[in-house]
Amino acid sequence: MDSSFQWPDNKRAAISLSFDDARLSQCDKGFALLASFGVKATFYVSFGALDKRLDQWKLAIEQGHEIGNHTVTHPCTANFPWGRSNALEEYTLERMEKELTGANERIQSLLGVTPATFAYPCGQKFVGRGEQTRSYIPLVAKHFKVGRGFRDEVPNDPTYCDPAQALGIDVDNRSFDDLLPLINQTIERGGWLILAGHEIGDAGPQTTLRDTLARLCEFCAEEKSGLWLDTVDRVGSHVIASRNI
Ligand SMILES: [Zn+2]
Repeated sequence: MDSSFQWPDNKRAAISLSFDDARLSQCDKGFALLASFGVKATFYVSFGALDKRLDQWKLAIEQGHEIGNHTVTHPCTANFPWGRSNALEEYTLERMEKELTGANERIQSLLGVTPATFAYPCGQKFVGRGEQTRSYIPLVAKHFKVGRGFRDEVPNDPTYCDPAQALGIDVDNRSFDDLLPLINQTIERGGWLILAGHEIGDAGPQTTLRDTLARLCEFCAEEKSGLWLDTVDRVGSHVIASRNI
């Protein structure tokens, strides 16, 4: 690793917790758990669900959590049957840019904050198909500090990663013991691990398990772990600032 890069406060590596779609269980079960450890996370919100818990989301911002952009209408490939009416294959870059700026405007008017980071719905980064396919990563780079992917495989190398396509790893339905090798790899490499989940609870589909979250928070809180656990915005800002020195 580039020897000039350093994590703050003699930390050896960083982890960010992120959760998508403003699932109600994030408010109903997640906030209390995170608060009990004093941990700040990043929430890539979807409208509709967000509106159902607006007061709780405002409180979450006061408590230091980050609200990120996840588009207005969550377009993904139409290979998901539910994606057929809003398919990335039918999008243009112009239409996608409206999804990005439109979501920022709605979040600003509902919650009074402007997102600094973004999560690609379904982790997909294209519009169109075949020879007309375009990447929308440049739009994300234009409007945000960080764009988080999904179902990636390795932690980000802070000396090399492109913040506009930062790797995000699925944390749903994984035990802490299952995650531990990945966490150790992150520490060994001095990397930045971004975990991405959906529901927060004790069982069920697309659910980050409370036991896993609690053990992860405890692990990071131990001085000897050398881990900095913070939002995508705060860790990403450190990574970006380190390159501009
Ligand atoms: Zn999503």
